[in-house]
Amino acid sequence: MSKIQVLSEHLTNMIAAGEVVERPAGIVKECVENSIDAGARVIDIEAFQGGIEKLIITDDGSGMDHEDAQMAFMRHATSKMHREEDLFNIQTMGFRGEALPSIASVAKVEMQTNNGEQSTLIRYHYGELVTQEPCNCPLGTKIEISGLFLKTPARFKHLKSISYEFSVIADLINKMALSHPDIRFTLSHDGRIVFQTSGNGDLKEILFQMYGKEVASNAVSFQGHNDDFKISGLAVQPKISRATKYFMFITMNSRLIRSVPIQKAILEAYGHYMPSNRFPIVVLDVKTDAQLVDVNVHPNKWEIRLSKQNELLELIQKTLREALSASLRTVKAAPKQTPVFEQQKISFPYPVKEEKPVFVKKEEALDPILESFSDYEKPVIKNEIQEEIVSYSEKANEGYEFFNHLTLIGQLKDSYILCENEEGLVIIDQHAAQERYHYEQLLEKLNQPVIATQPLMVPLVLNVSANVLSLVDSINEKIASFGLSFEVFGNDRLIVREIPLWFQDVHQEDFFYDLVDFFVQNLNVNMESLRKHVIATMACHSSIRFHRKLTRDEMEQVIEDLRKCRQPYHCPHGRPTVITMSDKDLRKEFERG
Ligand code: ADP
Ligand code: MG
Repeated sequence: MSKIQVLSEHLTNMIAAGEVVERPAGIVKECVENSIDAGARVIDIEAFQGGIEKLIITDDGSGMDHEDAQMAFMRHATSKMHREEDLFNIQTMGFRGEALPSIASVAKVEMQTNNGEQSTLIRYHYGELVTQEPCNCPLGTKIEISGLFLKTPARFKHLKSISYEFSVIADLINKMALSHPDIRFTLSHDGRIVFQTSGNGDLKEILFQMYGKEVASNAVSFQGHNDDFKISGLAVQPKISRATKYFMFITMNSRLIRSVPIQKAILEAYGHYMPSNRFPIVVLDVKTDAQLVDVNVHPNKWEIRLSKQNELLELIQKTLREALSASLRTVKAAPKQTPVFEQQKISFPYPVKEEKPVFVKKEEALDPILESFSDYEKPVIKNEIQEEIVSYSEKANEGYEFFNHLTLIGQLKDSYILCENEEGLVIIDQHAAQERYHYEQLLEKLNQPVIATQPLMVPLVLNVSANVLSLVDSINEKIASFGLSFEVFGNDRLIVREIPLWFQDVHQEDFFYDLVDFFVQNLNVNMESLRKHVIATMACHSSIRFHRKLTRDEMEQVIEDLRKCRQPYHCPHGRPTVITMSDKDLRKEFERG
């Protein structure tokens, strides 16, 4: 007898179940996707004991007739794809026709469905059809799954605690709700409702449900498009951040997806405002022609392959950057048109000078700078430099007016500069303010080709571990464009012999150690993030410390420097540099009505 046999349908379903229904949340995902495909406006998810004991998913979608209800449990049976071409133009969440048979092979499933004409009850027990009969049920479909994996102990053992399994379900429903704000979702656990959306299409409301008022009120709406993609969503301002990247919710044609390149593009856009180990909260939906997206990459449909990916990444970066920089400018500034007679009452500690554009560069002058960047990075860098040119040579500084209307009061705790303006009390964080100023200064310098370097009188010696020495060539290759280079010295040391002229103000030793550490931790760093890191680190190592007594002149200099900044209200890490306590706030605090 031959050894090779074709697997039974039941076995094939169980094997497929390994990929599709690893845990209760996998079942929830498949059933909710089916409800969405059926046009449901209301979807209820009830989980018992983390979904291990029972799951009930009820929808008000189109339902099925007798025949379809039966067919739905056949392997590779689907109403969503008919021809070969359909595979390259998928408009629905499902298309593989394997979820229901897979689930039914490893659990007890009871389905009631009504399409407005026929109502059907079907029961499967671990792959076996046990009931199929007409029934009475409302329009739509209700699927109840119990006894999951009881006949497959190896898989059952794989399940974790009840609270863990439920948390995965809850996380999934949060994301589903964000990707379908016009569907009303209700999630309950052991009979208690834990999450509910209204289905009125308001994304901010869902964010509010998930993370509260602070996050929702700091969420900025954005929209953008190019020839192939339309993007929209919410970007939470960088002053609120998270320690992991799981708060970037990405959907492609309303399908939840995981995409490292898209996450990176989002991070790049936040780069100026966020420390390197923090991550933003972003909800991003991409709409595109289904033909550009291949969703048939993995059975659980989380991964996709995308044509024209680079165009999309550029669009995301540009749109988010614009949305963020616009929102960060909205700090309340003094009114622009102050009547002359009132102006006399306000002191102007800083002379209003006409600033010459400091950064004027012709298009062709960008070429040598761009040379060191990869093709993918070039347009991004170019765009950034051009933005810089525009903001220096056309526009007045954003903070200009605001900082002209400050009267210095003094310093608090050797750390904060206190001022007064028409609105009330203005508090400046001296270190954050200096970081912002130096950051912008360095940004400008680093955007210019390094022409002049100068030898150090005493070369700088850095003690490093042996693994760093093996990286020196690749580090040098990347930092050459900044006019920097390391030389290997003995078994455990690096030498720096030359620095760019403008580099003198930076605390050099700290800076170089930091740079080496950065490379060790981010071996495959791209130029753009390296550039941001280098600049932010330099800015930090060249700024006035948080605890330092300042003279009046120094305080005025800090304010004057901030006034020159393009984005004076946030340090490079996204923390505020200035806060205002209005007279109104103070009155309220002192209960003056
Ligand atoms: P797929 O979604 O990939 O087509 P499934 O096994 O998930 O495969 O579902 C099989 C078929 O059952 C679907 O194509 C659909 O026609 C039908 N179906 C499943 N769930 C529902 C539902 N909640 N409402 C209406 N039809 C459903
Ligand atoms: Mg499906």
